[in-house]
Amino acid sequence: PGRLATAPRLRPDDVFIAVKTTQKNHGPRLGLLLRTWISRARQQTFIFTDGDDPELQLQGGGHVINTNCSAVHTRQALCCKMAVEYDKFIESGRKWFCHVDDDNYVNPEGLLQLLSTFSPSQDVYLGRPSLDHPIEAAERVQGGGTVTTVKFWFATGGAGFCLSRGLALKMSPWASLGSFMNTAERVRLPDDCTVGYIVEGLLGARLLPSSLFHSHLENLQRLPPDAVLQQVTLSYGGPENPRNVVNVAGGFSLQQDPTRFKSVHCLLYPDTDWCPVHKQN
Ligand code: UDP
Ligand code: MN
Repeated sequence: PGRLATAPRLRPDDVFIAVKTTQKNHGPRLGLLLRTWISRARQQTFIFTDGDDPELQLQGGGHVINTNCSAVHTRQALCCKMAVEYDKFIESGRKWFCHVDDDNYVNPEGLLQLLSTFSPSQDVYLGRPSLDHPIEAAERVQGGGTVTTVKFWFATGGAGFCLSRGLALKMSPWASLGSFMNTAERVRLPDDCTVGYIVEGLLGARLLPSSLFHSHLENLQRLPPDAVLQQVTLSYGGPENPRNVVNVAGGFSLQQDPTRFKSVHCLLYPDTDWCPVHKQN
């Protein structure tokens, strides 16, 4: 009992957070993330993009990786990025892999707290299911022209998801060094679905659904204001759906902070130098 029986506390740099981005988003999206949550998770965060950008490199403190994947929104290009994220995580030796998009806010302490309830050596795949039913895909088996159907759950990439190192290592025959692309072609599905296919369809492990991860596919206004700060990831609707943002009060108007990320950040970290100063009594 006592100290020796408990596992060592999970440290921030046990976690590898991969942020997927693309050249044209560096200005519009990455700046906001760097000034908000990434500033509190520097050692954990790695930015995966598709073009050289010396200014971003400087701001990212050496944690910017040019994947050399093409800068288009195709299955192949997105799977290429996911494959590089996976390889870099394996190389890092860290305990947890988490993937997010460049329109996600990550609550670094919430994430650490959530992950610390699991063991990284067990099979853990955590995230928000994209659908309310398993996806059914045609699986092309190599060699023969046979097609079988495979059903599995997957975590939506736009809400972020995490994999334990134990599970990630088991995925390696289908995920490492270019095999991820071949695996994605077998089911002709996007990167996040392909992760679900490998975990559930090929390895027989299970997605553990978590409602703490959020994408802009949901109605973000419906999150109770007093629950927002407890979430692990958030997102925002963007120009097509500008009103789909979390409902938080704070020092910034909707005009000053259309994504609400600055407001969330100042509630979590009020000592940030650009946050509105509140009078102390
Ligand atoms: N993205 C990318 N290459 C592209 C387009 C988008 O890597 O050509 C990334 C983008 O940076 C983001 C994610 O893919 O992290 C999802 O893109 P977006 O939010 O624009 O679209 P959604 O699929 O959420 O509607
Ligand atoms: Mn998005």
